[in-house]
Amino acid sequence: MYLYNSLSHKKELFVPNDPDLVKMYTCGPTVYHYAHIGNLRTYIMEDVLEKALRYSGYNVKRVMNITDVGHLASDADTGEDKMLKGARRENKSVMDIARFYTDAFFADCDKLNIKRPDVVEPATNCIDNYIEMVSKLLETGKAYFAGGNVYFDTSTLEKYYVFNDHDEEDLAVGVREGVEEDTNKRNKNDFVLWFTKSKFEDQALKWDSPWGVGYPGWHIECSCISMKHLGEYLDIHAGGIDNAFPHHTNEIAQSESYLGHKWCNYWFHVHHLNTDTGKMSKSKGEFLTVSLLEQKGYDPMAYRLFCLQSHYRRNLVFSWENLDNAALAYEKLVAKIAALKPEGAVDEAALAQLKERFLSALNADLNTSLAVTALYDVLKAKCNDATKLAALADFDQVMSLNLMAAAEKVRKKQAEEEAANADPEIDALVAARTQAKKDKNWAEADRIRDELKARGIEIIDTPQGAKWRKV
Ligand code: AMP
Ligand code: ZN
Repeated sequence: MYLYNSLSHKKELFVPNDPDLVKMYTCGPTVYHYAHIGNLRTYIMEDVLEKALRYSGYNVKRVMNITDVGHLASDADTGEDKMLKGARRENKSVMDIARFYTDAFFADCDKLNIKRPDVVEPATNCIDNYIEMVSKLLETGKAYFAGGNVYFDTSTLEKYYVFNDHDEEDLAVGVREGVEEDTNKRNKNDFVLWFTKSKFEDQALKWDSPWGVGYPGWHIECSCISMKHLGEYLDIHAGGIDNAFPHHTNEIAQSESYLGHKWCNYWFHVHHLNTDTGKMSKSKGEFLTVSLLEQKGYDPMAYRLFCLQSHYRRNLVFSWENLDNAALAYEKLVAKIAALKPEGAVDEAALAQLKERFLSALNADLNTSLAVTALYDVLKAKCNDATKLAALADFDQVMSLNLMAAAEKVRKKQAEEEAANADPEIDALVAARTQAKKDKNWAEADRIRDELKARGIEIIDTPQGAKWRKV
């Protein structure tokens, strides 16, 4: 599989360290609010990546954190802990908020067929791991203690801006406007590994540490949780593009300084879901959730298809019109699958050809829009329906659009409607008309058609024979 690597700015052939196991880490949600559909775009595309790797024959171990402490209002370590903001907003404890929004996140993932990672670890579970890493960084002179906090010293690095060579102004993306400069920092880009002092003294969750009672910085969580479950060498680290700087840049700085060697080979960044006013974000307050889409009558699968129709390295613009188009496309796709008849034997050679086309779309830097086209190609293919159904079921292991179940539902509904409308007398008249036509008794055929018309029944001639419906 070729994947674009944010580290090299190139598409590279993916080669895991261990051919038998791909180690994948994903930045998890900050659970102070519902995930919005922008966040979920990132999780959908990461889910497809994991499934595409599995489809290609790899074993994958995927780990994700749950950020329940340390993610401050600004990604550049200033402001209040987002969890505390959420707790105050709802007049609940931080742990109650964390539990509630973690459950809500996984409920949304279930609705969107996003598989739960093999390991899900709340940040508050790993305090000893952070203390161990911070201690070593201090011992080796990569970190310093100032004004009550422990900072990573970015001047010890050969290169800090690992993802790009832009100037500092361009890289201020993760740093919100209006946040004060921290005067304890020796260098502008130094970041907090452990806080004991903050202007926000009502921080709810604190732990004892060699540097005083405090709490971890956000970036250290992902480094430690990844190493705890995946060891010193990571194959793929994934996240939204806004995480590249400063979050992932800082993760690399501290992880590689701690380990003394390269940590992760491939960085997979999903670009943003935007609205007409810019990036959808939780902190802006106005955002769309899966539940809201459902309330408006959308099947969450329409949103998944909407995401799959575009490449993960392009910004995706959300509008209701775009979602309507995806919903309609989904409905039509399912209806076409429902019309396929599971008869005959699967043509293995034809199936292998269809699969190859699908796999080559995934292998081309996870080109999901081409993979969606591969679904339509199956419907148009010159093979029997059993083969088409086998191909679609196979592809849906990766696309996870519920295609087979949704088609079955349509078939069942159609059968129920037919049963509800069944009328043996009308069936007999339609059969008599068919016979009359066969006998070239046109007068009789017309008479029956007129009689049915008078009774409010319309005959529809189809390649499968005459059908009728009430008008
Ligand atoms: P958070 O819960 O804020 O920590 O974000 C969870 C994930 O969603 C991270 O990987 C972010 O990079 C990603 N993300 C945030 N906003 C968007 C957006 N508008 N579109 C796509 N991904 C996003
Ligand atoms: Zn992270």
